[in-house]
Amino acid sequence: MTFVTRFATAGAAFGLVMAQAACSSPAVADPAPSTSAAGPVTTTATSAPVSTTTTTVLATTTTVAAATTTAVTTPAVTTTAAGVLARRELGRSVEGRPITAIERGTPGGTKVVVLGVIHGDEDAGADIVDRLGELAVPAGIDLWLVPSMNPDGQANGTRTNANGVDLNRNFPLGWTKIGRPGDWQYSGTGPASEPETKAVAAFLEETKPSLVIWYHQDLNRIAPAAGRAGEIRRRYAELTGLPIAPVTGGTYTGVAAGWARRTLPGAVAFIVELGPTLSAEQADTHAQAVLAVAKL
Ligand SMILES: [Zn+2]
Repeated sequence: MTFVTRFATAGAAFGLVMAQAACSSPAVADPAPSTSAAGPVTTTATSAPVSTTTTTVLATTTTVAAATTTAVTTPAVTTTAAGVLARRELGRSVEGRPITAIERGTPGGTKVVVLGVIHGDEDAGADIVDRLGELAVPAGIDLWLVPSMNPDGQANGTRTNANGVDLNRNFPLGWTKIGRPGDWQYSGTGPASEPETKAVAAFLEETKPSLVIWYHQDLNRIAPAAGRAGEIRRRYAELTGLPIAPVTGGTYTGVAAGWARRTLPGAVAFIVELGPTLSAEQADTHAQAVLAVAKL
């Protein structure tokens, strides 16, 4: 596994692609990438060659200040492979596992958040996030990677979190009571009752990304939408070969992407339903698609 996964899911069981019944989801002390000595982010001084950035970052996996400064002054195209600007713990799961976000790219640029896993038994998206941790990020994109917002579900091989809650029915928009603990759509005891939901919602409200993507399995599709959102979804679908088709079969209240669309100003938020398995080549294709639509 790559560095992203290592950071974010220590102990979590990866590689389990236990795509059981289709997901049927609907459609800091942050080391603030400072402008410090280097001046504003828009500055494109060419002092740091790419290789220097990489070296610096690799040497600074836990503290980000030095790496950040270097990266900010790096020219044009990117954060290089493995260039991590910031690593942040958003919160802890019910069982105490960290939920981590990793920043790459251009601090202060167009913010894009990619969440690899929300349903613990649909974890192929983690491989896409891993790949996004390796690819060069286009200039101007402030990429935040959240390998998993349900590390307990991954560790336990369950769709739900350790309280038996479907996190994708637990977000605080249009929340309704669904089911009982352990039921596939159990929505929890109230809106954002779960620590995983709270952590991610707070992070997104603070970050205010313009694009948010969650991965699921295994309906193999992207739901349609209108306007700019529809354009981005169609482009992503074209690049990955996924059909545009409605997602049906569940009770879609308290869902994460719907909450994000209504809560984050101007944000495009959607889910990608992967197939039952995802090859390394497909993970790369999806990662490239994320970067391609990031500035649409
Ligand atoms: Zn799902």
